[in-house]
Amino acid sequence: MPTFTLSTTQKNKPLLLSKGFSYTIDKITNDKTYWKCEDARKLKCKGRVHTNNINTILLHENDSHNHNGSAVSTEIRLLEEKVRDRAMNCNEATQTVIDICLVNLSDNAIARLPNFKHVKRTIRNRRGQNGLPKIPHDKTFDQIPDQLSTTKRITVFLRYDSGSGNDRIIILSSTEQLQLLENGEELLVNGTFKVGIVN
Ligand SMILES: [Zn+2]
Repeated sequence: MPTFTLSTTQKNKPLLLSKGFSYTIDKITNDKTYWKCEDARKLKCKGRVHTNNINTILLHENDSHNHNGSAVSTEIRLLEEKVRDRAMNCNEATQTVIDICLVNLSDNAIARLPNFKHVKRTIRNRRGQNGLPKIPHDKTFDQIPDQLSTTKRITVFLRYDSGSGNDRIIILSSTEQLQLLENGEELLVNGTFKVGIVN
């Protein structure tokens, strides 16, 4: 059974990755998606793939590429997608996004990483589009924005906020997490001393 991975291009277009080659959509019909090698134009490459219309099954693969594929380039495409996704959906520092995304990357891929200046610019650009508020530097900020008070599935996440001030207490949890807590037999508690316990 041939396997492939779906990803996205930098412009957020669907990208299909298979055997070290990357494909973009050529055309879509009622029952099939036709993919062409990413280098179809540049190298006049004839590599093509067909999937069913919901892109779950690979129906046909013509891998007569006129260039080499590389597993590392697939890995890097997936890394780039991960970086864009975190930058859009998290509010971490640029370097944190990179560090988290580099975990589990193979040595070969690390050796061939794209220029970090470029990666950092991508993160900042995406961050500019994500509309998330700036990270506050103390506890006196006004209100937690609606966007951060619910989960991505729009269920309650913010449980309690004692309000602006240095003694502020905020409790965040999804319903599932509360249930886990309730059903747990042992509770392990962790304190972050920088913000927490003074005595
Ligand atoms: Zn090709």
